[in-house]
Amino acid sequence: MRRALVVAVLLLSFTSVAAAAKPPPFRGSVTALPASLRGTMIGLSWHRGCPVGLDELRLVRARHWGFDGQVHTGRLVVAREVAGPVLDVLRRLYAARFPIRRIVPVDAYGASDFRSIEADNTSAFNCRYVEGTTRWSEHSYGRAIDLNPIENPYVTVAGTTSHPASRRYLRRAPYRAGMAVDGGVVVREFEKIGWGWGGHWSGDRDYQHFSASGR
Ligand SMILES: [Zn+2]
Repeated sequence: MRRALVVAVLLLSFTSVAAAAKPPPFRGSVTALPASLRGTMIGLSWHRGCPVGLDELRLVRARHWGFDGQVHTGRLVVAREVAGPVLDVLRRLYAARFPIRRIVPVDAYGASDFRSIEADNTSAFNCRYVEGTTRWSEHSYGRAIDLNPIENPYVTVAGTTSHPASRRYLRRAPYRAGMAVDGGVVVREFEKIGWGWGGHWSGDRDYQHFSASGR
């Protein structure tokens, strides 16, 4: 009798823990850029002369897990033709509870890639040249995403990073939360939509960078 009671109490507590831990369902959407966002972007992440127009871009909104164990809603600006597949990746990262620090358009950082990285912000569209060149970055087309850039730094061939908080992530093992690694969920899910990873480059490596072209 007493054992039955103990079992019943245990079952009840397991049930309530399971109910309390049930996460909110994934939510995500793809829309044209709202007028307010266009207004913010013009003169910052977008200007006349950029290789794609604002009508060719989409806003992906999606729930994601943070490093705080909470659910947040992120906003990512990408090319129209990749918005659906990108939303699929974010859905699968949510299902895997992969933590992402924050996802806001780079305009919040004055379209400064450096400042966005310092905030460990995940971002996509930014009409800018590849560092040190006059060649458009894949980000200028909205076909590249930088994910958790502090945990996943751009590492020069000499093994350095421009961001002090990234120094402890120069070594890619052991695995720590938020990292993109071979065989991990992030690299795997981007591979499923046909995107390449900067962690596979030779020479300088860009562990945060995923792109449709692989460049
Ligand atoms: Zn990038």
